[in-house]
Amino acid sequence: MILLTSDTETKPTKAMRMAIANAVVGDEQKGEDPTVNELLKRTADLLGKEDALFFACGTICNFVSIKTHTRPGDVVLAEHMAHIIRAESGGAAMTSGVLMEAIASERGIFTADDVQQALDRVAIAPYLYSANPRLLCVEQTHNFAGGSVWQLDELQQVCNFARQKGLATHMDGARLLNAVVATQTTAKDFASCVDSVWLDFSKGLGAPMGAVLAGTKEFISEARRYKHMFGGAMRQAGIIAAGCLHSLDHHVQRLQEDHKNATYLARRLSQIEGIKVRNTAPDTNIVFFDVSGLGIDTAMFLNLLQKHGVKMGAVGKSIRAVTHLDVSWTDIEVAIDAISKIARPYANVKSNGAQSTSSAQKTILQTA
Ligand SMILES: *Cc1c(COP(=O)(O)O)cnc(C)c1O
Repeated sequence: MILLTSDTETKPTKAMRMAIANAVVGDEQKGEDPTVNELLKRTADLLGKEDALFFACGTICNFVSIKTHTRPGDVVLAEHMAHIIRAESGGAAMTSGVLMEAIASERGIFTADDVQQALDRVAIAPYLYSANPRLLCVEQTHNFAGGSVWQLDELQQVCNFARQKGLATHMDGARLLNAVVATQTTAKDFASCVDSVWLDFSKGLGAPMGAVLAGTKEFISEARRYKHMFGGAMRQAGIIAAGCLHSLDHHVQRLQEDHKNATYLARRLSQIEGIKVRNTAPDTNIVFFDVSGLGIDTAMFLNLLQKHGVKMGAVGKSIRAVTHLDVSWTDIEVAIDAISKIARPYANVKSNGAQSTSSAQKTILQTA
């Protein structure tokens, strides 16, 4: 099965498993795991931050950060399709008691003017009645907008503006290193725009789990209390950190291949009749497309695709395909071939113009 569902599908390589097996370990909760400490030092340096903290996953990095930056009743500004709003089970509301103010945008990238408008909405009533805006979140790359990248100047403008307005800034950098590789901008430059930032090692970097949150000493020291409170402290976590360190050494530059594969996939899919690619020139490793032009729904499409040995996922009414370490150029060719086959009956029907959409659908089902 070719798994294009997500870059979380990556399995640890043999070499990574060796690194994991040989890891020197200690008590992470007490700050005594040497492998974790090495990872924290490496990541803090990479991001140009004073201190860092190890977590099992990225979701907890987001809510510990929000908890540390805010007080209950505060307003957090984020893009309207941000992972923090759409994919964390309402965690920010439950753990931090914050109001989310969504900023609408096309590509997940917004401007200082959009932030100003959001602040105006929050402050529409007199001071006594309005909630306190406290934090701005940005997502680099933006997942549900198709792995789109904030260019450094775009990020600087928005974050400088937020600072002027007295807001703290946080970056959900689950795929920050994809943006680094795609733009040749350093992680440090991107991270310098924000007060707190984290990286996910379980996405394109290919580690089984692990995320590192970085910020000032003061921020991290407070975040450590919340990490403990939420059950995030670990013991011999060097076992996990060793996989993360291995990914920093071996899997960063190769993200470029994933981007090439995604670009190729998007270009070829956009030539298939009935397929509408949302990001025909993806910035990184995520491709979104719609299949409603085939006269079948996403569930049916995904089902047919699986019969051809290819798995993708659905986000709302769109299909999402994510390239990664365990998907080769050949696998991409297989996926394109499968989708062409699924779409062909529809294209034939359309070109002879004789059948209605519903009979096209029947043809598709029969040939699957
Ligand atoms: C995957 C993801 C997360 C959550 O990370 P987990 O390690 O799966 O908890 C947060 N934000 C974005 C943008 C993501 O893609």
